[in-house]
This record gives sequence, structure tokens and C-alpha cells, in this order.
Amino acid sequence: EFLKSGTKLSRGFVPTMGALHQGHVSLIKRSLRDCLETVVSIFVNPKQFNSAEDLNNYPSTIEKDLELLEKQNVDVCFLPTKESMYPLGDNIEVAELNGVSKKFCGLDRPGHFEGVLTVVLKLLNLVQPQVLYMGEKDQQQLQLVRTMIESLFLDVDLVEIDTVRESSGLALSSRNIRLSDEDRLRASELFISLSSTASDEEVRENLEHKGFVVDYIETYNDRRFGAIRIGDVRLIDNVKV
Ligand code: AMP
Repeated sequence: EFLKSGTKLSRGFVPTMGALHQGHVSLIKRSLRDCLETVVSIFVNPKQFNSAEDLNNYPSTIEKDLELLEKQNVDVCFLPTKESMYPLGDNIEVAELNGVSKKFCGLDRPGHFEGVLTVVLKLLNLVQPQVLYMGEKDQQQLQLVRTMIESLFLDVDLVEIDTVRESSGLALSSRNIRLSDEDRLRASELFISLSSTASDEEVRENLEHKGFVVDYIETYNDRRFGAIRIGDVRLIDNVKV
């Protein structure tokens, strides 16, 4: 209603871990369109990585990211350090006790969603946005953040943005940088098979047959979720069924 009357919302916030791509840009553009002020954070949150190797391998393209944010006319780019985000170490953590955080990525990456929820709450407290923009590509994360906002009465609206894909169907992800051209093409098989009418079990077999390591393929509520590994690169996706 607000937007129909031409009134803009106050501050929009897009939290990221950098290595920005057109998926991030889609969130940023929506915030720039709807809000008077747009804040983008880049922080590779160590607490959400359950493996030091995965953290060390996480891509970083900070110079390019800043150029992109400047070109988009983002108002504020927030680049906190680990020390400033965790001034007391890690004495307090946000955890979801009995829900979706114990499935899928929560099973494969113990402590991951606790790290995500904790850093999102900290960032929201620092940035104080009216609107938070997040991608449905990370559907499980999105659902957990929504639950945290409702459960803790956080004063922010969460807006969900559609997954941006390559023409092959592969969901854009910072982790794609680490795939060879050939693997990048092969990786589109995740989206293609998740979108097929085959059963979860058949999709898993098909992906394994094609040489991927499959972490999970499972339909939950109205979505099919999948995670595969190509070498040491882990890719996730989900589609509405
Ligand atoms: P990340 O930097 O990977 O933590 O992602 C930051 C935000 O961008 C999260 O809300 C993601 O869900 C969102 N995002 C990542 N990839 C995509 C994509 N391909 N399409 C739309 N949103 C995305």
C-alpha cells in the first residue's frame, strides 16, 4: 500500500558474504527501488563455517565488489571485521531448537545456522533497517530468519527475492567462481533434475550416476531441496514443486 502511494520505505539492508554476482544485484536493485537508503554489508562470517578449509577457500573479490556497489549507487557499504562483530568472542548464540535448522544443511554443516542467525541478528541491530532483503536460493536460511524475526519480535520486514539463474538453470552463487567451465555446465544438472517429475530417490540416483556426490535430495512442504558436491565445491538449490 505504501509503495503504491509512491512513498518510499526508509532503510533497506542486503547482507552478503561478498564475491558479488547478479543474484546479489537483484536484491540490491529491489532495495534501491523501494527504499530511501540502501545498506549492503560484506562479511564472511567465520561462525557459520564448520570447516576451516571451506572458510579459507571462500572466494573474495573485494575490489570488484566495491566497484559494483558504487556503480549501483548503494548508499552505505558496511565491511565489519571479525573483531568488531564478535567483541566478546562467542559467548552468546542464537539457535532454533526444534525446526528446519536440524534438516538438510543443518545436518551436513553442524553449527551453520546458529552462526547465520547470530550474525543476522547482530547485523540487524547495527544497521537498524526497515526492510531486510534475502534470496530464496537459501530457502532454509530464509525460513529460519523469518522465524527469528517473528519469535523475537524484531522490528523489520523480510522481503524474499527470486533466485537468479544462468541460462543453463544453474543458480548464481559466489561458490561458482571455483568451478571450471566444464563443471559449471555440468552443475546445471542440479536445477534440471530438481525441477523434473522424478522422485527424490530417482533424482539422487541420476545425480550420483553423473558423478556428483549428493548430500541430500528431499521434498519438504512444497519445495524440493538439494545439495551436491563437485570436488570440494558444495552447491545448494531448491525449487517449488
Ligand atoms: P551470500 O553472499 O551467498 O551469503 O548471499 C547473500 C544474499 O544473496 C542471501 O540472501 C542469498 O540468498 C542471496 N542470493 C545468493 N545467491 C542468489 C541468487 N542466485 N539469486 C538470488 N539471491 C541470491
